[in-house]
Amino acid sequence: MHALTEQQVRRSFVNCSQGEAKGLTLPKDFADLDWAALELLGWRDPKAPLRGYLVVDTGTGDAIAPVGIAVRAADTRMSARTAAMCLLCQTAQSGDAVSLFTARRTGAAGRNGNTVGTYMCADLGCAQRVRTEIPPWLQDRDPAEVVAGRAAELRGRVAGFVESVRR
Ligand SMILES: [Zn+2]
Repeated sequence: MHALTEQQVRRSFVNCSQGEAKGLTLPKDFADLDWAALELLGWRDPKAPLRGYLVVDTGTGDAIAPVGIAVRAADTRMSARTAAMCLLCQTAQSGDAVSLFTARRTGAAGRNGNTVGTYMCADLGCAQRVRTEIPPWLQDRDPAEVVAGRAAELRGRVAGFVESVRR
């Protein structure tokens, strides 16, 4: 995705108040992010334990159109002994590394308390994980091709999630 400024990130949020967007804590490595290697920017709020954020660029070509979604993790976690899968990056992990997150929908639906939920990596680090966690059945294929494929699928699934929040 295109590199974004702090202001662009804060202004991108569609499902929380301006006050919340102004007050949220950016990832601690924000100044050093390798934006070109990110399909989305996802992070947990270091100061608000259950809060997390996803920012994607919905622009095409050179146009920048960031959309941010604030999510909230369920306060119960799955057991480390169960297997779970993040539905965005589709990485299989132990249950404690995956969390159910809900996002308030935009507009009237959100004002009525309507949310969308999905299982995601607990640290929201899907963009890194599609590059580093290659499933065993893909390990004999060309790594660059596998990563490109997984990244494209991640972009599609995140776009679908953003769509379901804004619908
Ligand atoms: Zn993930």
